[in-house]
Amino acid sequence: MSAIDKFREILNGRHNYAKAWKERTGGKAVGWLCSYSPVEIMHAAGMLPVRVLGSHEVQDVTDRYLFPTVCPFSRDALAQGLKGRYDYLDGLTMARTCSHVQGTFDNWRNYVPTPFIYFIWFPCHRASARATECLVGELKDFKEAIEKFTGREITVADLDRSIDLFNKNRSLMRQVYEFRKSENPPITGAECMEMVVASQLMDIEEHNELLEQLLEELPSRDLDRKTGLRLMMVGSEMDDIVFVRMMEELGCTVVIDEHCTGSRYFWDDVIPQDDRLAAIANRYINRWPCPAVSSDFSDRLDRVLQHAKDWDVQGVLVYQQKFCDPHEFDIPSLQEMFKEHDIPTLMLEFDVLSRSGSFVHV
Ligand code: SF4
Repeated sequence: MSAIDKFREILNGRHNYAKAWKERTGGKAVGWLCSYSPVEIMHAAGMLPVRVLGSHEVQDVTDRYLFPTVCPFSRDALAQGLKGRYDYLDGLTMARTCSHVQGTFDNWRNYVPTPFIYFIWFPCHRASARATECLVGELKDFKEAIEKFTGREITVADLDRSIDLFNKNRSLMRQVYEFRKSENPPITGAECMEMVVASQLMDIEEHNELLEQLLEELPSRDLDRKTGLRLMMVGSEMDDIVFVRMMEELGCTVVIDEHCTGSRYFWDDVIPQDDRLAAIANRYINRWPCPAVSSDFSDRLDRVLQHAKDWDVQGVLVYQQKFCDPHEFDIPSLQEMFKEHDIPTLMLEFDVLSRSGSFVHV
């Protein structure tokens, strides 16, 4: 089976994958709600970190818990917990990002029985000189709480191994993204999204093996399709693979992205230093920023523009989950920047709860 087919198979059976992993390894699975959750520490504790995602189906179970103006992604994620679809999770964690997904976390804590629940206070002012010190303290408490829950000490060697595995994963995915720079990319935007979302759900060693297989397959892969317009996707949470596939069938290719199920999630490595928790904290403080975490957008815009240039994009789809105010604030600056560089943009608002999408799998 090709690596892409395997990623797709795992995505479509993501709950069964995690349950089988638990049965096979005897380990615990811990859900995470936002890409600022330190997966390295969860993995170092012998747990399977699993990103909690919605199912993209119409629902009304969250209406009594969350305002209707909470973003559809956050409501969809809570619906999965309330419906018991993540009943195999031993824990749930998140690092502070936006108030919408924090509502999901708070209601999960109150109404979805889960043995281990942990909230990490990610610093609001990530540009502050004290941000790393603050996050190191939070990560230390988080590590101790996980050790107490699992009954297993997380050693320096455990942290080193996990940091290496996740850095390798990031490096391999960046290598796959390099193939998208070619005139006729051997991988579509929808397939890349499947690869990245799978990385957020799978055993990282298994994902690395599939990435190595994919990197062997790509040089001779012929998609027998025209690339068409080279597009970039920029915006809030996006795992609507069906939408991206449909768009690409209409004569375009998403050659690069900047969102939390794409490059923004994995682009930056943990840079080794003696204090492992400080190394992890520095990675999350200095990583490709999400506007949900900080109002300091200056470095983000430069990075987005550089991506657009490096992947030679001809247009940008700027999108947001409906009611996502962190990204909504971001959109005027993005559109103005692209306009200055003669790159056309189209803005779209998404409501993943209004129709069935890629993930109606229970
Ligand atoms: S950043 Fe936007 S899309 Fe993400 S959880 Fe918050 S409101 Fe929803």
